[in-house]
Amino acid sequence: MFNSSRLNPADAGFLTRLASRLPPDTLRAPEPRDLEEPRGRWQGRAGAVARPRSTEEVAEIVRAAAEALVPIVPLGGGTGLVGGQVMAEGLPLLLSLDRMTAIRGVWPEENVLEVEAGATIEAIHHAAEAAGRLFPLTLASQGTAQIGGCLSTNAGGVNVLRYGTARELCLGIEAVLPDGSIMHGLKRLRKDNTGYDLRGLLIGAEGTLGIITGAMLKLFPRPAATGAAMVVVPGPAEALSLLALARDRIGEGVSAFELIGRNSYAFMAETMPDVRLPLPLPGWSVLIDLGLSSGEPAEVLEALLAEAMERGLVTDGVIAASEAQRQAFWAFRESIPEANRRIGAISSHDISVPLSRLADFIAEAEAALTPAGVRINCFGHVGDGNLHFNLFPAEGRGRADYAAQAADLALLVYDKVAERGGAFSAEHGVGRARTGDVAHYGDPARIAAMAAIKRALDPPGILNPGVMIPAAAMGHAALGQSE
Ligand SMILES: Cc1cc2nc3c(=O)[nH]c(=O)nc-3n(C[C@H](O)[C@H](O)[C@H](O)COP(=O)(O)OP(=O)(O)OC[C@H]3O[C@@H](n4cnc5c(N)ncnc54)[C@H](O)[C@@H]3O)c2cc1C
Repeated sequence: MFNSSRLNPADAGFLTRLASRLPPDTLRAPEPRDLEEPRGRWQGRAGAVARPRSTEEVAEIVRAAAEALVPIVPLGGGTGLVGGQVMAEGLPLLLSLDRMTAIRGVWPEENVLEVEAGATIEAIHHAAEAAGRLFPLTLASQGTAQIGGCLSTNAGGVNVLRYGTARELCLGIEAVLPDGSIMHGLKRLRKDNTGYDLRGLLIGAEGTLGIITGAMLKLFPRPAATGAAMVVVPGPAEALSLLALARDRIGEGVSAFELIGRNSYAFMAETMPDVRLPLPLPGWSVLIDLGLSSGEPAEVLEALLAEAMERGLVTDGVIAASEAQRQAFWAFRESIPEANRRIGAISSHDISVPLSRLADFIAEAEAALTPAGVRINCFGHVGDGNLHFNLFPAEGRGRADYAAQAADLALLVYDKVAERGGAFSAEHGVGRARTGDVAHYGDPARIAAMAAIKRALDPPGILNPGVMIPAAAMGHAALGQSE
C-alpha cells in the first residue's frame, strides 16, 4: 500500500547505517549546487548526497532506503528545467551518478556504444567520434547533462527531426528498481520481442520507477559533409512550408530546422552583446542544418533557397561559408536560453502541436496575449512541432509586476495547445513543476494506469516522490508536491 506518511526524512541514524554498508566517502553533505536548478526557480533540500561508483553500490543504497522508507531523488547533471531533480520538502537522499561515467564498450561495426549513466552527452560525442561514429543527441546543456538524465526525461534537442528523441537512440537499459533489484537490459539487439518494453517504460519516467545506471546506445555513420544557413522568413507559416520543401528536396539530409523569433535577436543584443548576431535583427528566421553523405552542402542550400525565394518563403539569408561560421550560427542559437534567463521569464512553455496547427497557434496565442503587455520569445525545434513559447515582462517592467497574472497567462497558452491536440510538455518532462498540468489536461485513464504502475513497482513511493503523477491519482498528498 502506497503511504507517503511512512516516508522518513534522511535522519542521522539512517545515514550512519547506510554509510556502514558502503565504501568510505560514498556519502557527503549536500552542496548548494546540488540543490539548485538552472533557472533558479526551485531550491531543493537533502539530508545527504550518495555518490556510488557501481551499479551494485546503487542497488545497496536503494535497498537501504527502501528498508528505511527514505525518499531518493536521482541527480544527473542537474540541468532539468521542470524541477524533477530538486525536492523542496522533506530531507531526501540525493543519489548522484557523477562517479559512474565509464564508456564500457564501443562496437563501431554494429553502431553501438555502452555507457554508464553519469557520462555527459559531450563525453559520449567524443567517444563516438573516436570510433568514427556519431551519437546525435545534441542540446545546449550537453556539457553537463548526463545520459541517465537525458534518458529519464526522454530529452529531445536539435537533431530529433532526423534521429529521434533519446528513447529512439537507446537499445537497452540497466537500472536499479525501487526494491533494489538490478534489471539487466543491456542487449545490443535491434529486435527483441521477449516481453514488456521495460526499457521504454523507464525512459521518460524521470526517476520515478528506477535509477538508470547504464545504457546501450545507437550510433550512426558520420555525415561526409555538413552545412548550415540562417534565413529570414515572412512568418511561421512560411517557415513550415520551407521545412516541407527542404525535406522534399534534401530528405534525411536535413538534420535540424530551428525557428528563431524576433525577440531572440533583441534579447541577445540586450543581454549578451558579445554573441555575434548572424543576421541584423530580422523578424522571424530559421536555422537549417544539413548533414550529407554526398554532395556539397553550400550548393544544395543555394538551390533550396533560390527555389524558396521564388515561392516567397524566404526573403534573405546567409549560407555558412565555413565550419567556423556554421558553429557561430549554432553558438547564437544555443545562447538563446541564457539570454532568456538574463531577461527573466514570467512563464516558460515547452509545447508541441501538430505541424499543420503550429502557425495558427502562434498567431492566436500572440494576439490573445497582446492585452497583457508581455514580450514573447518563441523559438525552437519547429521541425518537430516543438516550440519554446516563453513570456517576458514588457520593457521597463519586471517579473513581479505579473505575479497576479502569471498562472492565467500560462493557462491561456496551454488551452490553445490543448485545443489543437498538442502537449504542454514536449521534451522537458513533467517533473514537479507540471504535475498540476497532468491533472488538468491529462487523460484520466492514462493517469490511473501511470499511478497503478508506480504503485506496483514502488509500493512505498521512495523513488522521486512528487514527480510526474498527480497526488490525487496516488490517493494522497505526495511528499514534495503541493496541489
Ligand atoms: C541551456 C539548456 C538547454 C536545454 N536544452 C534542451 C533541449 O534542447 N532539449 C531537451 O530535451 N532538454 C533541454 N534542456 C533540459 C535538460 O538539459 C534535459 O532535461 C536533460 O535531459 C537533463 O539531464 P540531466 O543529466 O541534467 O538530468 P537532471 O536535471 O539531473 O535530472 C532530470 C530528471 O531525471 C532524473 N534523473 C537524472 N538522472 C537519472 C538516472 N540516472 N536515473 C533515473 N532518473 C534520473 C532526475 O531525478 C530528474 O527527475 C536544456 C537545459 C538547459 C539548462
